[in-house]
Amino acid sequence: MKKSLRTVAEWLNINDQEISDVTVSGVSINTKTIQPGDLFIPFKGEKVNGHQYVTQAFEKGASAALWQKDEPNPPQNLPLLLVEDSEKALQEMARAYRKDHPATFIGITGSNGKTSTKDLVAGVLSPYFRVQKTAGNFNNNLGLPITILSLDEETEFAILEMGMSGFGEIEFLSNLAQPHHVAITNIGEAHMQDLGSREGIAKAKFEIVSGLQDEGCLFYDGDEPLLKPFIDQFNGEKGSSSIRTVSFGTNTTNDISAQSIQATENGSEFDVAGLIDSHFMIPVLGKHQVKNALVAILIAKEAGLTNEQILESLKNVSLTDMRMQVIPAQNGALFINDAYNAAPTSMSAAITFIRETSIRSEKWLVLGDMLELGSDEQAYHEELAEQIKPEDFEGVCLYGPRMKWLYEKLQNTFGAPNLIWSEKDYAPIRDVLENHTSANSIILVKGSRGMALEHVIN
Ligand code: ATP
Ligand code: MG
Repeated sequence: MKKSLRTVAEWLNINDQEISDVTVSGVSINTKTIQPGDLFIPFKGEKVNGHQYVTQAFEKGASAALWQKDEPNPPQNLPLLLVEDSEKALQEMARAYRKDHPATFIGITGSNGKTSTKDLVAGVLSPYFRVQKTAGNFNNNLGLPITILSLDEETEFAILEMGMSGFGEIEFLSNLAQPHHVAITNIGEAHMQDLGSREGIAKAKFEIVSGLQDEGCLFYDGDEPLLKPFIDQFNGEKGSSSIRTVSFGTNTTNDISAQSIQATENGSEFDVAGLIDSHFMIPVLGKHQVKNALVAILIAKEAGLTNEQILESLKNVSLTDMRMQVIPAQNGALFINDAYNAAPTSMSAAITFIRETSIRSEKWLVLGDMLELGSDEQAYHEELAEQIKPEDFEGVCLYGPRMKWLYEKLQNTFGAPNLIWSEKDYAPIRDVLENHTSANSIILVKGSRGMALEHVIN
């Protein structure tokens, strides 16, 4: 954005303060990453009070700053806006900027695949339009407004990731972003602790329709039966609105479906049937990534691109690292680095991919703990054993204290050296892989972010 501080003051309904004649060209909540011209927004956290950094923010080129009224001694002679609450002010600014912004806004939620889908949607559109997307994982009550305020005035598509850990959060984000189209990638088990059940998760994700614009589209995972009742209710209640609901997935009953998915060393090739009838490819592996690509194809169609244009840009997209990323090892084995994160659904999706792939014949799993699963965590780890059979997998390396549960389950079926467990040392796993894998091997590496399982590869 590029706005005068006066405009920002108007957005915030401030009319009892002296406003400096300066322009702000973005917002920042961190003096480490602040850019010259930014409006600095100080938060009062439990440990850090951002107001202590306001002077430093100006030294680093901030053109203005907010200041919460309950904080004493605002610095004199600096362009400040005094506000009741910094977080609310940030959100208010984003709401106002969004309202006047001409871009098409896309909102993406789901238990898994938000970042991947965001990258695929942005990647398919960006050769043809000016596109901006959520940076990294800036997908919450602070990240989303910061993302919106960082949009250039000329941006034609804003691709926004929306995350949550409880009810009401997606509703808030959707109302803030007022998206023209939204997508629900899937329903998993993440945040079960807070939402009680998978139905609860589906309900919370469905909140994304609350800000959806008339004539927009809701794209949803039609392979997930839990979403169906919400869709039926929504279609029944939407009255005169012309919002469309479009299902995607691998079942042929969906409005569009991916068929004949083939994994190659360069990625996945697949046919699309239904509303769109064509052949596409993406440079990543896994059926779940193909499903994410269906969202990109649907949105590209809404944007008016032809199948040929979509094919061309989709095969060249680049995803954020550590999502089913293919990395050749020195001995010719192929690592599939999916170490960004793990929860039961994404774990199953990745294991299924390795089991079913025919790119390499000797299959290895390197799995780390799944965190934040609440009181059922032991069962979630143990249940993975049902998907890991010796006839499908050459070896299994487990890492982290929770993976001991799975280790104990697998001990009857796999023997050393092809089954090992290491509580907190990567070295024994590296040793097994070095000594027992070959150019015929494919090795899945996946665990929660806290496990940093990419160290097995590095
Ligand atoms: P976060 O909640 O951490 O922001 P996210 O929803 O943005 O996660 P990604 O970062 O895209 O998700 O992917 C997280 C993990 O889920 C990766 O291991 C990825 O391979 C897997 N994954 C991606 N898409 C899907 C999907 N549609 N279904 C199941 N798993 C998926
Ligand atoms: Mg994400």
